Amino acid sequence: MKKRAFTLIELLVVIAIIALLLSIIVPSLRKAKEAAWNVICRNNLKHYGLAGMMYTNENGGMFPNAWGSIFKSVDPARYCQWHDQSRNPIRRPELAGSLWPFLGEQDKSHLCPLFDRFARQSHVCTNNIPVEPVFGYSMNGLLGGFELSGATQYSHVLRVRTSEIKSPSSILFFGEENPWVNSSRYIATLNDNALCGTPAHPSTAGAWTKDPLTMVSSENPNGTKYGDCLASFHKTTFEKKDDGESNVVFVDGHVDMAKWDNTYRLSLWTKTMPTLHR
Ligand SMILES: [Zn+2]
Ligand SMILES: [Zn+2]
Repeated sequence: MKKRAFTLIELLVVIAIIALLLSIIVPSLRKAKEAAWNVICRNNLKHYGLAGMMYTNENGGMFPNAWGSIFKSVDPARYCQWHDQSRNPIRRPELAGSLWPFLGEQDKSHLCPLFDRFARQSHVCTNNIPVEPVFGYSMNGLLGGFELSGATQYSHVLRVRTSEIKSPSSILFFGEENPWVNSSRYIATLNDNALCGTPAHPSTAGAWTKDPLTMVSSENPNGTKYGDCLASFHKTTFEKKDDGESNVVFVDGHVDMAKWDNTYRLSLWTKTMPTLHR
């Protein structure tokens, strides 16, 4: 029997069918991949929550200073530390923070795969340091210390104890930050280990007692801008990366999702500013 080759029409039909199948399969594969990345991110934060609990247990219930929790900030380049592999604490153990012994030295538990992808696609470094993300999580700055303008971060510590947190299941311990800056939402440069969800800079007099309802949100676009806010790249697309949600771990260790405009409400555990220790 004579072998018959495919005709051009047959070949085109086969190609069209394959293209149609791919158009059906590819988006669902992308969704499956993102769901898997979300699981990795939630596990990372679970790990952070446990490390935080172990730290406070071994330190008389005291929270670590947010600025030095994951790894030590070195001014003035601390804003780049999250994407500067030359300052990765695995390579530079002297930069490891106070939580590091509890977090372990596994590179990947410090990075959400989605953060990594979005950072490489959208972050432009003004210091020309290659964008190779090291970590994407930050600690609630209102628990563990904050910066006063012109001061060295380490010399200012909020000595807050776990016993002072009245509802540990509703107060943020660690969360994600965006690797890009949205000037309409943030007044601070992101990813310096400390997430300061304030309606005004914490060094501003009265910032701690301001009504959280006066902060900027989707319902109140003219409100006060955040100091920092939670990430917005989960459960959305790259084109709408400012509009999604992110993962957070609370002081009690449970992981959930939160929207960026809830940052201050989830961070604020006290109505009066605790004593600042130098
Ligand atoms: Zn940079
Ligand atoms: Zn994530």
